[in-house]
Amino acid sequence: MSRDTELPPLRVVLTGGAGFIGSHLAEDLLRDGHRVVVVDNLVTGKLENIASLRSDPHFEFIYHDVSNHLHVAGPVDWVLHLASPASPIDYLNLPIQTLKVGSLGTHNALGLARAKGAAFLLASTSEVYGDPAVHPQPETYWGHVNPIGPRGVYDEAKRFSEALTMAYHRQHGLDTRIVRIFNTYGPRMRAQDGRVVSSFIVQALAGQPLTIFGQGQQTRSFQFVSDLVRGLRLLMARPVHEPVNIGNPEEFTIQGFAELVLRLSGSSSRLSFQPLPQDDPQQRRPDITRARELLGWEPEVRAEEGLRRTIAWYRSNLGLAPALGEK
Ligand code: NAD
Ligand code: UDP
Repeated sequence: MSRDTELPPLRVVLTGGAGFIGSHLAEDLLRDGHRVVVVDNLVTGKLENIASLRSDPHFEFIYHDVSNHLHVAGPVDWVLHLASPASPIDYLNLPIQTLKVGSLGTHNALGLARAKGAAFLLASTSEVYGDPAVHPQPETYWGHVNPIGPRGVYDEAKRFSEALTMAYHRQHGLDTRIVRIFNTYGPRMRAQDGRVVSSFIVQALAGQPLTIFGQGQQTRSFQFVSDLVRGLRLLMARPVHEPVNIGNPEEFTIQGFAELVLRLSGSSSRLSFQPLPQDDPQQRRPDITRARELLGWEPEVRAEEGLRRTIAWYRSNLGLAPALGEK
């Protein structure tokens, strides 16, 4: 079986489904005839992201904070738990909410899955590796996280949510998945979410300086959202309970990435070097051997192509005309 399109139609509860990744996943599931119930409190998501789905009779939206008891009427086949602030500025602004949704929210989502006899997927993150001393990062690496630093609210919430998911699997026999998502980008990222891809594109299109934190020599590996959605669907279709990295191993320094955005957007913005935030990881690249071997997954969209599509989306979204030099 290659993906869950070969399964009968499922009813899927998607927490955080009004966010960037969740809305793409909801769209993909609906396209294949599944039913989707998005549960979201819109703390960082937007109704606009799911506006085109709301007329679909297979789509439901429940406005709810999943850190509070979670009730969904009727049968449920899958609970996909994506609810959490995800961008550094969001989780630094919402530290307690982030810890609560990673702990209480994950507990409630697991409880819902158990009560319904549903399978469960946790959207975890490459941040569980912290500032990694092993490069690239395989799933067997336990990480290097500062539990009391400002980023700890996100990293430790996700590490706890992984531990809780494994406990439900071991103690209750719940059918679980854990995906460690690496930096993902694409249409519908909020222009002001402070993540590097959205920030650089918006700055480049507005002719403003690109804000490079530190010397710009730290690295990240960026995947286009459609590759992630395909990976999530493949993971749902396989009984793989250990964590799986899903990310694109194409690695960039942040300065190199800024130069790529400038070239692809035809922008003449300059680079502006700003202080490096505390505990900012120095390097990050997924080892995707496990995803390749267990899911037959690997990324298909190269950075240039994904960035072109994302720049085009921001351009029409921000109402800007193509630049003369745009390639
Ligand atoms: P996002 O902020 O766009 O989406 C998160 C969604 O969760 C939002 O719609 C938000 O309103 C909702 N939410 C947050 N707290 C909630 C709560 N208590 N109750 C109900 N809804 C709540 O972020 P995203 O980039 O789409 O991330 C989705 C998931 O993927 C997150 O769990 C994130 O940690 C994980 N992830 C994302 C990336 C990435 O690069 N985008 C990388 C690693 C992991
Ligand atoms: N970054 C940057 N300028 C920005 C936003 C981010 O140089 O305007 C850097 C940030 O310090 C980090 C990298 O880009 O080294 C990726 O940041 P992002 O917030 O996108 O994701 P994360 O740090 O969670 O990987």
